[in-house]
Amino acid sequence: MSHAQANTLPELHRLHLAIQEVQEEIDRGPRQLRARSNTTASRLAELEAQRQKQKQLKMLADQKSLQLKTNEAKLEDLKGKLNQAASNREFDIIKGQIEADKVANSVLEDEILETLDKVDKVQAELKKLESDVAIAQAEEKKFASEVDQRRPSLEARLGSLREELQQAETYLPEEIRAAYQRLVQAHGASALSPVENATCTSCYVRLTPQNAVSIESGTIMFCRTCGRLLYPRKESA
Ligand SMILES: [Zn+2]
Repeated sequence: MSHAQANTLPELHRLHLAIQEVQEEIDRGPRQLRARSNTTASRLAELEAQRQKQKQLKMLADQKSLQLKTNEAKLEDLKGKLNQAASNREFDIIKGQIEADKVANSVLEDEILETLDKVDKVQAELKKLESDVAIAQAEEKKFASEVDQRRPSLEARLGSLREELQQAETYLPEEIRAAYQRLVQAHGASALSPVENATCTSCYVRLTPQNAVSIESGTIMFCRTCGRLLYPRKESA
């Protein structure tokens, strides 16, 4: 049975947890930044879609205006023909055609006004979207510089915690060092598990009374259920 100095395992656990916390904070920055970039990208895509919509509406209004001009020229032409009608029958046919064309042109005029109205509405939406994009871009830039500023001190803290950890690991008995390293590789900070009320706090399985006593007296032991390296949690710690 190996023994450790009373402080070694709690100290190792504390250091592993601190390293994990700093590492998570380092990783969080780029992750949050990616989320912000995605937000900016989707705002930009929305803006681009509205710009396309605007372009198409303007084209539609132009096409309809051109159609109206063509129709009006045709109408003038018909009016000229009306005066030269050779018979009453021909006169009635041309007159009917003129009436029908007038109605069609009036519908077309309404459609043009409606389309121009839509162009104005999309224009207002575009203004709003452009401002949304500008805000998202500014926030992204600000956040990126905050992440950059925080990073060196986090890296420095990580470095000094790792040094402390290496130092603390020298107090581990030689014979459990390999098993400890494997556990850390597999489980990170949760490689170690405090025992509370004779129970492993990693898997919540109760220790035998004998093992609980051994743990309390500083014997190094791995949990039989989850394999974690056990140590007694001191009440005041
Ligand atoms: Zn366990």
